[in-house]
Order: sequence, then C-alpha cells, then structure tokens
Amino acid sequence: MQVPLLDLKAQYAKIKDDVLKAIGEVLDSQICIGGPKVAELEKQVAAVSNCKFAVGVSSGTDALLASLMSLDIGSGDEVITTPFTFFATAGCITRVGAKPVFVDIDPKTYNINPLLIEKAITKNTKAIMPVHLFGQMADMDPVMDIAGKHNLYVIEDAAQSISSTYKGKKAGSVGTCGCFSFFPSKNLGGIGDGGMVVTNDEKLYHMLYIMRNHGSEPKYYHKFIGGNFRLDPIQAAALLVKLPYLDEWSQARRKNAEYYNKKFSGTVVETPFISKDCVTIYNQYVIKVSHRDNLMEYLKKQNVGCEIYYPVPMHLQECFKYLGFKKGDFPESEKAAKEVLALPVYPELTDEMKTFVSETILKFVK
Ligand SMILES: *Cc1c(COP(=O)(O)O)cnc(C)c1O
Repeated sequence: MQVPLLDLKAQYAKIKDDVLKAIGEVLDSQICIGGPKVAELEKQVAAVSNCKFAVGVSSGTDALLASLMSLDIGSGDEVITTPFTFFATAGCITRVGAKPVFVDIDPKTYNINPLLIEKAITKNTKAIMPVHLFGQMADMDPVMDIAGKHNLYVIEDAAQSISSTYKGKKAGSVGTCGCFSFFPSKNLGGIGDGGMVVTNDEKLYHMLYIMRNHGSEPKYYHKFIGGNFRLDPIQAAALLVKLPYLDEWSQARRKNAEYYNKKFSGTVVETPFISKDCVTIYNQYVIKVSHRDNLMEYLKKQNVGCEIYYPVPMHLQECFKYLGFKKGDFPESEKAAKEVLALPVYPELTDEMKTFVSETILKFVK
C-alpha cells in the first residue's frame, strides 16, 4: 500500500468543477490583477479570523515581510521569534534589515516558550513574532502581556494555523496582525502561491494595503517604499471555492489524529501535545521518537510518506552564521529537530491507509 504525506489530487477531485468555473469567471472578466475575487476572499478570511481587515498578498512569506515593512521595522531593530520554524519567519526579519533574536521552544507544543521571552528583550526590540506551529497556536496570553508591558508589536506567523483557536480566539486576531499562507500544502492551499494579513488595526490595514502595491497612494505617488505583494485573482477564485470546506477538513484531520493517538498510546511513540486552551487544525501531525531517522528510512521503504519539519533550527542555518550562535544555544529546538516526524493526516486518508501507517510504525518500534 502507498500512503503519500499529502494527496492534493484527492482533494481536487471533489471540487474540480467549481474551481474550473471560478477560474473561468476571472478569465472571462479579464480582471487579472486585484478585482472582486480578491476583495471577496479578503472579506471572508477576515470573517473566519474574527478580524476587521484583511489584505491579500502574494505568499505567506510576503505577508510577514509586508507586515514588518508596514510596522516600519528595519535596520537596528530586533524581533523576537522561535528558531524552530520554517525559514521564512527569520528570513523576513533579516530581509528588512532587522535582527532575529531567538527564544527556545516549549518542548511539548514546539511553540515559543513565553517564560524565556522577557530575558531576550533589549531597548532595540520592536516586535515578537510567535509561530503557531503545526496548526496549534502559541501560548498567546503571556506573549501579549509581555508585549503590552514593553510596548512591542506582535506579528503572528499563522501560516500553518488559519482558523485554529486559543481560548476561543482565532489565529491572527490576537496580535497586532496575523499572517497566513495559501501555499498548496497548507490547510487552506491555493493552486500556487498566495497569502494574507489580517488585523483589527485600521491604520496598519491602510499601510498594508498600499505597501503591497509599491507603497503608492495615489497611483505613482510614493510616500513609502513597498513592493509588489499582490494576491493573484486566480488564486483568490480557487481559495473562495475551498474556504467553505476548511472547517470540515480540519475536523477530518482532527479525527485522523485521534485515531493515531489511540493507536500509539502506551507505546514509545510520543503523540502531539495539544494544550487545553487550543483547538488545533493539524496542518501537520507530528510524532516524537528517539530513533527518528531509522523510522523515517523504514517508512519510506514501506511507501509511507513522512517528513521532518524542521531538520535544522534557524540558529544553526549557514546563512545565519553571522549571528554567532552555536550548537547547544537552544537545546529544546535542537532536540525537536532530531526527533520529530510528520505523518499523513490529510482529510481524504482512508481507514485502510490510517491502519497501514500506524501498524507499520508499531511494527518498527516493537
Ligand atoms: C509556509 C510557511 C511560511 C511561508 O509561506 P509561503 O506561502 O510558502 O511563503 C511562513 N511561515 C511558516 C511557519 C510556514 O509554515
């Protein structure tokens, strides 16, 4: 049996006609930049996120970048974030000329450990960028308390967590703004790159709105230096078809996760810890095992898709050598990088597939 980590064809088969029709509408209109599909998606994603405003952008990476630029974070500034994340989080901080200041993770949730944040604050700190990893939101109450006390922005990297909740609050609605990615493998994935920033701050919304279009307002008058961060209307059209299914798909992922949790309970396979404050959307279902690399090799041989998110923490990336970090600086992130493994959890997994994945793993660990 073959079980891929993700099967986008299975999802597409169910919505193909609607997606093609929606794309056709964009093409017939020949409104190829911006337009009603982008505006409608912004309205709907803002609503889903319990936010007043949303700005469609070209990717999750550009959502982070445009947020930093719109908050005027740059040279000489520091942004506190986690080293256990996708590259874009730290990459964007450095691209605006600011310095990423890493804080280790809580080993249970893999999210930033709020107890370690305050020690990392200096007079140059401008923002905290928590990442809601694998679909579960970071512990936001202490993050917001610290930010309030030190007058810092909070940019939520919610690229993996659209519509997940913390104490009933939606991802993206807690901080100054929240950044989503519509990369095809994300829970709400486009048919190419796309992203969005949500916020309740009208002034920031206005800045984001003009920054995605080279900072111009009115056209050809540039008070700010922005970029081309626009969301493609064809992406918006496809995403409008998919968005109504998001809750159903998240529910199916949670059901699949529960199945694995039961199967692995009482074994050496450590299942995901989900805080009682959170409802996760399982963008990834990540187990922790000590002989991870051997298990991975075994699973690949048995045609079970799996992946390491992420094998090298940011402080040990070659491009960040100049920051002067060394092995051992963030032990929990380093340990996680050696032990985590993501398993197939996508909504269309069949019972046979789930059984095969879990039985194969149990065979290996026994
Ligand atoms: C996917 C992802 C991004 C970047 O999103 P893109 O749409 O691929 O640019 C940023 N941060 C995290 C945590 C991600 O998972």
